[in-house]
Amino acid sequence: MRARIVDKIRNAGVVGAGGAGFPTHAKADATVDTVLVNGASCEPLLMSDPYLLEAETDSVVRGLTAMLDCTGAGKGIICLKGKHSRAMAAVRDAVAKDATGRLAVFELKDFYPAGDEHVLVREVLDRTVPEGGIPLQVGAVVSNVESLRNVALALDDTPTTHRYVTVTGEVRRRMVARVPVGTLVSDVIAFAGGAAIADFRVVDGGPMMGRVLPDTRQPVTKTTSGLIVLPPDHTVVARKIMDPVRVRRITSTICCQCTQCTDLCPRNLLGHRLHPHKLMRVPQSQVLSNPVAREALLCSECGVCEKYACPMLVSPREVNAQVKKALMQAGVRLEASGRAPTGHPFRAARAIPTARLMHRLNVAQYAAHFDSACEFAATQVAIPLKQHIGAPAVCVVSPGDRVTMGQLIGEIPDKALGARVHASIGGVVESTADAVVTIRAHS
Ligand code: SF4
Ligand code: SF4
Repeated sequence: MRARIVDKIRNAGVVGAGGAGFPTHAKADATVDTVLVNGASCEPLLMSDPYLLEAETDSVVRGLTAMLDCTGAGKGIICLKGKHSRAMAAVRDAVAKDATGRLAVFELKDFYPAGDEHVLVREVLDRTVPEGGIPLQVGAVVSNVESLRNVALALDDTPTTHRYVTVTGEVRRRMVARVPVGTLVSDVIAFAGGAAIADFRVVDGGPMMGRVLPDTRQPVTKTTSGLIVLPPDHTVVARKIMDPVRVRRITSTICCQCTQCTDLCPRNLLGHRLHPHKLMRVPQSQVLSNPVAREALLCSECGVCEKYACPMLVSPREVNAQVKKALMQAGVRLEASGRAPTGHPFRAARAIPTARLMHRLNVAQYAAHFDSACEFAATQVAIPLKQHIGAPAVCVVSPGDRVTMGQLIGEIPDKALGARVHASIGGVVESTADAVVTIRAHS
């Protein structure tokens, strides 16, 4: 049964919808004892996971059951926060009806980053993922809510063609919209009634880990969880668009070594050897040789140090990210410590309440009044052939081809880790240049 389900997930191009887009068929091919459904909706403002857990409960549970069958796991635990009361009620109802006894619910506390895979595994299973490791090493697979819904669709040979996106911030209608993959961000914002301010920037993802888009001609991908429209001088945006070299110079100069970044770092609190305050004192010339710099490889870039902990308002996260990139490019690895990480005794007390974080980020006013299940019908899409971890898909269509929604347009290269890509609307292929397939709907 495993091979059949894994093939269906692979054929449908399902990827991790909550993060970097790891191909789900590769996760499904693992052997574990537990599958965790990550419904933490960890980033402030993002609402699509609670929406799906409430409105598509049966579909998510069907996808979870398929993952249990694939991985041989005896337990599937749906993890979400109690504040999403309607989603919680729907999930509890579905679990109560499960006759196999394999399903359970875990109510997460409302803190950031409850959805970090390492943190989630610790909270729910009381297991610590090794430094630089993945949940598989402690017998768990973590799956995103929307990924599991897409697994359920894959069982019926329906490929991943759409994405649920939270559209919020300075738009006239805040919403959770279902949009075809490849829809231009400008079209999604127009669908949300347009921007309510003349000058704005758009954050792709959540306010903590999302990135500021260079322009609104970018496409929605399988990993686009949110689009947040904000003024250019908003605290969330301003830090993200500063020159990274300048950020690094300022951070290293201004850091007063108070250690707040380390004290509140979620990975340090799990017992990992990550001490961002020490990294601030590593000269740039010693990044490849100083053993302290290698700790940057353990940074999840969650942003707690930058957006919450640091009293000097500088960015250890950015310094870590730059050091990590340099180390990875040089092929430098962190030596295994050989010890089992033990969590900090104050870990629970140092968890960051989401409500306080939202006020610190000045985004609390964007958290209310969402329309749900808004369906957008695109007339043109630009679908990247790489929306996932692994090799880009190989284009199998040409300009002028007529395609139907769900038709394969990108194939996984031979023997590579990757994900298939499908047409998200029916129409004519206009271009395949720059590894992007542009399709215009039939008029
Ligand atoms: S971004 Fe900062 S707080 Fe988050 S893991 Fe990295 S060092 Fe720790
Ligand atoms: S919190 Fe800021 S000032 Fe304090 S040690 Fe970290 S980077 Fe330096």
